[in-house]
Amino acid sequence: MYDYLCYTKTIIEVQNIVKEYTLGGTVFRALRGLNLKIDQGEFVSIVGKSGSGKSTLMHIIGLLDRPSSGSALFAGKETGHLADAELAKLRSNEIGFVFQSFNLLARTSTLDNVLLPAVYTTKNYEVKQKALDLLARVGLSDKLKNTPAQLSGGQQQRVAIARALMNDPAIILADEPTGNLDTKSGQEVLKLLEDLHQEGKTIVIVTHDDDVASNANRIVRLMDGEIVYDKSI
Ligand code: ADP
Ligand code: MG
Repeated sequence: MYDYLCYTKTIIEVQNIVKEYTLGGTVFRALRGLNLKIDQGEFVSIVGKSGSGKSTLMHIIGLLDRPSSGSALFAGKETGHLADAELAKLRSNEIGFVFQSFNLLARTSTLDNVLLPAVYTTKNYEVKQKALDLLARVGLSDKLKNTPAQLSGGQQQRVAIARALMNDPAIILADEPTGNLDTKSGQEVLKLLEDLHQEGKTIVIVTHDDDVASNANRIVRLMDGEIVYDKSI
């Protein structure tokens, strides 16, 4: 754990970020000068229509991508000057990702999928026991040897959440985590995220669905690459 995490309150901050994509010679501005701060322990939904820039913002917050201009800070520190390898280390230690399409390795067992992040971390812990504990927590102790194709969508997403927790990250970023799930499985996933929030984790959900967004304590609404609403509830 980066020691400055112990005393910083703001975990995520972006300042005046612009993201431009160039397609066939034309420049498209997906984010138009965004400012956003998220404190440790918050549960935030980033909501907006398809194409509003949610995933682009999540990729920048999650240090998977860099803004075209503006600053992205993690735990109060500017990340722009970090090399890709340093960003990868920070990501692997402090950010857990959950995606709409689960992103599990197809020919790999549940247990090995959850163990994967431990390969890249600089944290020290009892790896196998941790994975088993996390899989027990998400209710999948009886599926350790199954591959993703042998699991339902809801089960696959719970594997992905266990994997996201493996390195005990400071923050979980979930991009449309219920987008491929039936209502009941979606609710189970949201309940897990809510429980993690109750335990003190910072949670950010990206969604186009207002019902899903309403689970959070703060709603940030994007429209055409700009924040048009930001309220705690
Ligand atoms: P959302 O997640 O809200 O649906 P995105 O962040 O994925 O929105 O996309 C915002 C806009 O940026 C969309 O118009 C999309 O087409 C465009 N965009 C996203 N990624 C790329 C890319 N890699 N290249 C070009 N355009 C992109
Ligand atoms: Mg998206």
